[in-house]
Amino acid sequence: FSILQNIVAELGGEHVHIVNLVGPNSDAHMYQPKPSDAVAIAHADLVILNGLGFEGWMTRLIANSGYKNTVLVASRGVTARMQGEAVDPHAWQSFANIRIYIANITQSLIALKPEYARAFSRRHDAFIHNITALQNDLRDGFNNIPPGKRVVVTSHDAFGYLGHEWDIQFLAPVGLSTDTEASAEDIAKVINDIRQRAVKALFIENINNPRVLERIASETGVAVGGRLYSDALSDVDGPASTYLDMMRHNIEAITLALNH
Ligand code: ZN
Repeated sequence: FSILQNIVAELGGEHVHIVNLVGPNSDAHMYQPKPSDAVAIAHADLVILNGLGFEGWMTRLIANSGYKNTVLVASRGVTARMQGEAVDPHAWQSFANIRIYIANITQSLIALKPEYARAFSRRHDAFIHNITALQNDLRDGFNNIPPGKRVVVTSHDAFGYLGHEWDIQFLAPVGLSTDTEASAEDIAKVINDIRQRAVKALFIENINNPRVLERIASETGVAVGGRLYSDALSDVDGPASTYLDMMRHNIEAITLALNH
């Protein structure tokens, strides 16, 4: 999916050719593989997926393609968050976790093409440096928000890892996946929470229909604070066309809404 595509491109540079299956602004939970996807996998030297149950359709796709090379689960080694019995797959929404993804991918690229090991290591170090710089930059603006005010409403539960890392509570009418629609009861519960906690920050997401969130906004009188990028990047012209830009956009938008 597009977030992994960008990370692999940052690390691999001109030494890798990437075929991405789920594009920008698209929902990988509910993706329907195309016949050309199996062909792409069959011809690959390395297949990289998020894991944690995010792209459940990949297992069958890989088996059907006859692919026999390495499959890298980019989230390997991450401490998974649970919601009841369900694993939260959105681990990329944490700077600590993305460092683990980056280490895993760098290791796999070096194993695949040891002749470019120095280039991959250099790119790895530059990427980590940029992540640290971004984190410090965003922290400066964010730290002034009182912890009790850090409540944000989104379409589905995609920000548990970000919330844990940045001490933000996220509320959503739909759970960890997008395979179910919000019930009237789910919506009523979120509306009730918004009123009780005087929530000021409400965001639509780039991968799903904004209808439910717009209804919640109109019933509570809380303005939609913009769009968060949860499970996919934006188009190249958009504000979140790279991993770093996505994290900057999301955290700056949340900071602005919570400071209001
Ligand atoms: Zn999701």
